[in-house]
Amino acid sequence: MSINKILNLFWAIRCMGCKNTSSLNRYGFCKECEQKMIYLENHSGIETFHILMYDGPVKEAIHRLKYNRKKYYGKRFALLIHDFIINNDIDDFDVIIPVPLHWKKEFLRGFNQCAIIAFYLSKLLKKRYLSGVLVKCKNTPSQTEMDKTGREKNVKGSFSVKKRYLIKSKKVLLIDDVYTSGATAKEAKKALLENGAGKVVVLTIAKA
Ligand SMILES: [Zn+2]
Repeated sequence: MSINKILNLFWAIRCMGCKNTSSLNRYGFCKECEQKMIYLENHSGIETFHILMYDGPVKEAIHRLKYNRKKYYGKRFALLIHDFIINNDIDDFDVIIPVPLHWKKEFLRGFNQCAIIAFYLSKLLKKRYLSGVLVKCKNTPSQTEMDKTGREKNVKGSFSVKKRYLIKSKKVLLIDDVYTSGATAKEAKKALLENGAGKVVVLTIAKA
């Protein structure tokens, strides 16, 4: 076996959904996974967009990004969001802001997956990326076992805004990974609007 083949075993680019090394699309998914991915219908004029259904390979890839530290997945998701924005002609915003994690959670995970995605997206779209402006000030418990009302109560008042002048009258694109009840995104959006943002469009990779 040549040295290149050996190196390829370690460095081969694998599908984000199933780890297969067969040819991947520009977002890092193989053909089989691509066929399982469900693109959602979005309507113009609304202020909340979800690209895919949170299921199968998409769920797997987001999970790996978050918990297996596959930070480079963030770049591919940024490309996916970029294409969605261009195809749907919704690039009318000034700044990109990620839904933040509480500093303790970010410290434990080592990164905020939404921040990585938002950062790369800002490079692709040549828009300003704002970090540390929207802040998760309350370390809220995990919401996985909560219903909609529980989630709303859980996140209430958990976001704050720093350097308000940076978002004053600005059109904001708020990036989140998964939209479940919408409680988190709605609360984050509320904090931005209450602190002077002109408009907030929410965009998530997937909807549960
Ligand atoms: Zn795959």
